Amino acid sequence: MTTQAAAKTPTTPRLGLKERYAMMTRGLGWETTYQSMDDVFPFDKFEGIKIHDWDQWEDPFRLTMDAYWKFQGEKEKKLYAIIDAFQQNNGQFNISDPRYLNTLKLFLTGVSPLEYAAHRGYAMAGRSLRGVGARVACQMQSIDELRHAQTQFHTISHFNKYFHGLHDPQHMHDRVWYLSVPKSYFEDAMSAGPFEFITAISFSFEYVLTNLLFMPFMSGAAYNGDMATVTFGFSAQSDESRHMTLGLEVVKFILEQDPDNVPIVQKWVDKWFWRGYRLLTLVAMMMDYMLPKRVMSWSEAWEMYFEKNGGALFEDLARYGIRMPKYHEVASKEKSRISHEAWAIFNNYGHAANFNVWAPKPDEMTWLAEKYPETFDSLYRPRFEWLAEQEKQGKRWFNNTLPMLCQTCQIPMAFTEPDDPTKICYRESSYHGMKYHFCSDGCKDVFDGEPEKYVQAWLPVHQIYQGNCFPEGTDPTVEGFNPLAAVLDYYHINVGADNGEFNTSPDKANWERWTGQDLSAAEPKVA
Ligand code: FE
Ligand code: ZN
Repeated sequence: MTTQAAAKTPTTPRLGLKERYAMMTRGLGWETTYQSMDDVFPFDKFEGIKIHDWDQWEDPFRLTMDAYWKFQGEKEKKLYAIIDAFQQNNGQFNISDPRYLNTLKLFLTGVSPLEYAAHRGYAMAGRSLRGVGARVACQMQSIDELRHAQTQFHTISHFNKYFHGLHDPQHMHDRVWYLSVPKSYFEDAMSAGPFEFITAISFSFEYVLTNLLFMPFMSGAAYNGDMATVTFGFSAQSDESRHMTLGLEVVKFILEQDPDNVPIVQKWVDKWFWRGYRLLTLVAMMMDYMLPKRVMSWSEAWEMYFEKNGGALFEDLARYGIRMPKYHEVASKEKSRISHEAWAIFNNYGHAANFNVWAPKPDEMTWLAEKYPETFDSLYRPRFEWLAEQEKQGKRWFNNTLPMLCQTCQIPMAFTEPDDPTKICYRESSYHGMKYHFCSDGCKDVFDGEPEKYVQAWLPVHQIYQGNCFPEGTDPTVEGFNPLAAVLDYYHINVGADNGEFNTSPDKANWERWTGQDLSAAEPKVA
């Protein structure tokens, strides 16, 4: 239509991308007359953020919708062509070791649903902001995130034809005990106001911490021969760099609008750094224990991506009055511990997880000892050797009681005191006569800032003990009732296939049958 119109009136100059973007973001906005603007946009003031001039908002990309669809359409075509080739060539057999599949199960149930949550969250944030430029930016990110969720589900669904545990990711995300950690993170952000949501997701998650989420999974996929996952990673990367830039721009815009915004943003930076860091415990464990070929250790990644890059970022933000997030030094003290503490939790509760677990092999323990000279041999190796010994004697051990969870991050209380890695860290707060428990000062602070919000947390262990995690119609009073079996049924976990020890899993047996490899004999190479 536009080309025809342009052809009829050749004297009208074609607008450049920049002008078209200005028309779209400034020209399409209007002030309401028969309803007050505050009634139309009821959510962008209650957090206390003061915006005096929305026109100061500069979208660094100025993408128009037609340009956006064109770019994204081209990326989609490339991605699906590669996925087709991967499937036709039985790419699933090129991975390093079938244990690698468990990182995909973690990703599909723990991360892909977050992309979908981000899609919903940005749609809501966009609706809530009265600045048109910011609304357009949120709209595009909302569509990006929907695409990320779709491409991830589509890519990984191929593996579902061959391996267990990948059949019902969204159902599991909403129910399985440890998946409440990522789920509650996003729901906490989505149930905040629009400025807090954007600070939490665009800035703290996408700008400050995203390298620690996507680098390990995508490089991990590349190292372990999973070209399908590498490809959706690449396809999302250009969106991701747009999101990161947006995250920084949003925070700078808010800070420049009014000095009263600074302490509010600092409080959010502190809160969302800590919540994001706790969520990354799952990634730390994946990097150090679940990738058969390692990319780098969690502690190396933390040093490179947070201590170095994050340090430089916060130096830059100092001129706005923003300092390093509270408890960043605790995260540095914990960098040689959290992956080991987390894999120990999963070895305790692997019978209730949607992926397989295992004790590290001897050469993997050598790698861990090299990467963690101060902690691995003295603190963690004995646990894993004991587990391997129990397994050898046919007594694979799982814990049949349920752990206490942190009220904020929802991770079992297994983290240790910042200055004593042999002592479990317990903190508590009272609210309306009830006692609440926390894994750290960081999580306690978050709770104390908004106790009325976090007392509502849906804690999986509490819910199981209250009888809320059985399939509908379950009668727990019948003789011989097995609560664990009922909970796994409610999760849609196929017992003996999706969960438990890898060495006795059907995934391992199938792999050996299909490839002729003897996994017990072959020690996988550790990079
Ligand atoms: Fe995304
Ligand atoms: Zn916690």
